[in-house]
Amino acid sequence: MTQRPCERPRWVPSPLLLASAALHAGAGLGLLLRPRVWPWALGGVAANHLLLGAAGLWPRSHLLGPNWTRLPAQSADRGEVAITIDDGPDPEVTPQVLSQLARNRAHASFFCVGERVERYPELVREIVRCGHTVENHSQRHRHAFSLLGPSALRTEVARAQDGIARVTGSPPRFFRAPAGLRNPFLDPVLSRLQLRLATWTRRGFDTVTSDAGVVYARLVKSLQAGDILLLHDGNAARGETGVPVILDVLPRLLAALSARKLQPITLRAALP
Ligand SMILES: [Zn+2]
Repeated sequence: MTQRPCERPRWVPSPLLLASAALHAGAGLGLLLRPRVWPWALGGVAANHLLLGAAGLWPRSHLLGPNWTRLPAQSADRGEVAITIDDGPDPEVTPQVLSQLARNRAHASFFCVGERVERYPELVREIVRCGHTVENHSQRHRHAFSLLGPSALRTEVARAQDGIARVTGSPPRFFRAPAGLRNPFLDPVLSRLQLRLATWTRRGFDTVTSDAGVVYARLVKSLQAGDILLLHDGNAARGETGVPVILDVLPRLLAALSARKLQPITLRAALP
């Protein structure tokens, strides 16, 4: 049956999830028909869970569902890159980031934490007024996000989705898991909320590395059109002088993009 225009696209499990479901069904059937095969059935299921767990701990993996690790080919062909900025908004850092971006006529995607959006709604609206987009980085940025079950995952994503839509007037189109870690229950939740998972091509590890030179070098290594780069305005590490690392790195990064004639755009601008 063809899908009507007003219908939500139905969730399509990834090949690994389909194979996992088949394996579980096969193990169950095997136990019913020949109970003596239980060590094989148990071993197969355990190995499958290890594989699913490993896939969730690998942020750039495509095994659990679609995942933007680079911009689509048409966007890369136009010489575009995406700067993504996580964990904000932050009342001290974000306004300075906005000024640096404006001076360079660059646009970025801000993956904001729902709780921080509720605390600083005017700052979030300022991000949008400056031409950037605000995307979903979960409600509370829980370290145990990847251990949550379907219902708790849905709550974490949906609360941030609703809060950001209320403040900005438009719902996020992309989701990024805290630290990029997830589990097989996330993809159906994102599908239902019409969100795309986005990770990155390279990240600066600028929440833990206080040397701006090292963070910059990580981001520009093999820099090319289509890259998705990750920095942080929230939880930013600070250099020796106390300056948040992103404020030291961003001007250099924008200069490097300009020298290579690469245009920083939002992820939404790259949607086909
Ligand atoms: Zn984060």
